[in-house]
Amino acid sequence: MRPVVIAANWKMNTTPADAGELATTIAGRTRVQGVTRVICPPFVSLAVVRDALAATDPGVAVGAQDVHHELAGAYTGDISAPMLVGLAGWVIVGHSERRRDHAETDERIGRKLARAVEAGLRPILCVGEQLADRDAGRAVAVVDAQLGGALGDHDPEALARAGMVIAYEPVWAIGTGRNALGSDAAAMAEAIRTTLVRLGWGASAADVPILYGGSVTAANIGEFLAEPSIDGALVGGASLKPDEMAGIVGRAGVTAAARSAATA
Ligand code: PEP
Repeated sequence: MRPVVIAANWKMNTTPADAGELATTIAGRTRVQGVTRVICPPFVSLAVVRDALAATDPGVAVGAQDVHHELAGAYTGDISAPMLVGLAGWVIVGHSERRRDHAETDERIGRKLARAVEAGLRPILCVGEQLADRDAGRAVAVVDAQLGGALGDHDPEALARAGMVIAYEPVWAIGTGRNALGSDAAAMAEAIRTTLVRLGWGASAADVPILYGGSVTAANIGEFLAEPSIDGALVGGASLKPDEMAGIVGRAGVTAAARSAATA
């Protein structure tokens, strides 16, 4: 049974002065059985969020929003995987905003994944097509190529052991208020698992949690979680709003309970 995961990507929002309180509020509003909750604040707030959650709800995991592809060196302003140990248990890799603003390639994202796994961090690998790709019928091919470029050199067993999660985030749906259809996200989740099999994952492909991301809210999360191939969400804008997070995680709890009853 795959876990149901709701991950909050706060992006470049909050400061160390207010991040702990927001994390505590969200944790308190989302205590729902069976849902894996992850909060990914900016690097500078990792320690304060870690400490706030340890004191109030250790059930919420902390994630970083990125990690460097090298272990150390002359990379001004960057953060390596060993630096994150003890601050975060999870890390987002390959978010489309980093691909766009920091020219991250699939090859580099693959190296980030390697550094994350070596450090014991659980990666959330983001993939997703541009609107032009979808309109041209190339969405599956683009995501297949992203996965091949990032995962091709990896031992599937090591990534499976690390608990890698994949987030399908169509770029045109991120921060736009325009979400994909649940059925399109489900079709892409199936295609992603087919690609994993092509890349040598075998039966473990079916165990990889796949999240949907792109303008998820409490009002539309149900459309995605109604799809058996979708295992949760990576939430951006709405993850800064405790009411939205309460609704999203509450709905995720319904799916978690149904999955658990189906396997009992
Ligand atoms: C994201 O940043 O991963 C995201 C999906 O953002 P939003 O929910 O704001 O579209």
